[in-house]
Amino acid sequence: MHVRKGDTVLVLTGEYAGRRGRVLRVFPKEGRALVEGVNMIKRHTRARRAGEQSRILEKEAPVHVSNLMVICPRCDQPTRVKRKVLEDGSRARACRKCGEML
Ligand SMILES: [Zn+2]
Repeated sequence: MHVRKGDTVLVLTGEYAGRRGRVLRVFPKEGRALVEGVNMIKRHTRARRAGEQSRILEKEAPVHVSNLMVICPRCDQPTRVKRKVLEDGSRARACRKCGEML
């Protein structure tokens, strides 16, 4: 998956198209990610304990990573991600536009 926790991403499609946000969590098995302020849903939570308030909570729902593009921290542009294996066997990502390691 090209998106990682902590990345800033651009949303490409849907209601939130054009919005930028920080990746809060990724779900590699589902190919989805949680992006701050994107795909908000309302959860109606009920008071569980005495004195607790029942309320409507707004929170993010995961979006598919195919609808996201990583924004490079150096050139500040949405970019595709180049993946490479380094000599020591570890993997790295790089910006396709400026070559910056991500
Ligand atoms: Zn770049």
